[in-house]
Amino acid sequence: PVLRVALMGLGGYANRVADAMTACQKAKLVGAISGTPDKLTRWQEKYGIPAKNCYNYQNFDQVKDNKDIDAVYITTPNGLHHDQAIRIAAAGKHVICEKPMALNAKQGQEMVDACKKAGVKLLVGYRMHFEPKTLEVIRLRKEGSFGKIQFFQGQCGFRIGDPTQWRLNKQLAGGGSLMDIGIYAINGARYMVGEEPVWVTAQETKTDPVKFKDGVDETIQFQLGFPSGAVASCLSTYQMNYLDRFYLVGEKGFAEMQPSTGYGPIKGRTNSGELTQPHVTHQTRQMEEMAGIILEGKQPVVAVDGEEGVKDLKIIDAIYAAVKSGRKVPLKLV
Ligand code: NAD
Repeated sequence: PVLRVALMGLGGYANRVADAMTACQKAKLVGAISGTPDKLTRWQEKYGIPAKNCYNYQNFDQVKDNKDIDAVYITTPNGLHHDQAIRIAAAGKHVICEKPMALNAKQGQEMVDACKKAGVKLLVGYRMHFEPKTLEVIRLRKEGSFGKIQFFQGQCGFRIGDPTQWRLNKQLAGGGSLMDIGIYAINGARYMVGEEPVWVTAQETKTDPVKFKDGVDETIQFQLGFPSGAVASCLSTYQMNYLDRFYLVGEKGFAEMQPSTGYGPIKGRTNSGELTQPHVTHQTRQMEEMAGIILEGKQPVVAVDGEEGVKDLKIIDAIYAAVKSGRKVPLKLV
């Protein structure tokens, strides 16, 4: 069986996913949802999408009656994910949603509940969960190669351009760098350390309050504490380049990845040598694996379901609360 997917929100990332999907065996791009009729025409030509599988933001609930679409992949700005995912679930289609899955944990939980009620799957676009070098580090950590894990460092950021883009609009982005790129350090801390954090501390710095308005974070440093005593120290920023690095330290070894979450190739080494797993196009691998999860009930090594997305949002909520209060915020994710 092949997972027949429609993409919603035909922007930069949707184009990347669509191109990557041309190499998939188990997933196929068959539909598109856009507010721009021209784009739909172009996508029909470029990807061989039939006109009857194209919708706009007013009428996409009608996907309910389309037997040729199994899932809708939401690649719109963050602030739209919640309502769109709930509408797709109500139309009886599986939902794949880009990260961050919503603006906060409450919204994320509502999406999880809606999909459960509708009997459809909800997956979040955590492409790193299928990346071979990442999975190798996780395997080595589980097998004890690094000994007892003590520390994780995650540094994620880039200098953002155009000040008018949705990523710098509080309503559409839900925040700033933390929602967009800092989430990789949050998520990475969890899959690298292999535990769920129980507390958060955080500090914000802002050098450009014109570009980064109220509620849009420029740079946040945050720390996570884990039940074993391991700690994570992370940096999320929209103001510095060359930040795409993970460092995991245990009593017996380490793993270092740089780049750690970019489109690749990911590079890395451990105390026992270079990571040599071959580069795969992340989005191709992700869609192959997601087809297996949705159609065959396959279990990924690292979860990509709605509950996983909500955990990151709970941490994001706690980081923003810690920035505001200046205090340590306790967390309960399990
Ligand atoms: P983008 O701006 O390139 O594309 C967004 C698309 O949504 C555009 O086609 C735009 O026309 C459309 N849109 C629909 N309604 C809109 C509205 N009300 N306001 C503005 N745009 C609207 O953004 P992008 O980089 O493709 O990001 C889209 C989503 O994908 C975000 O949630 C982002 O976090 C996620 N993303 C994930 C990755 C990844 O590696 N997993 C990479 C990039 C983006």
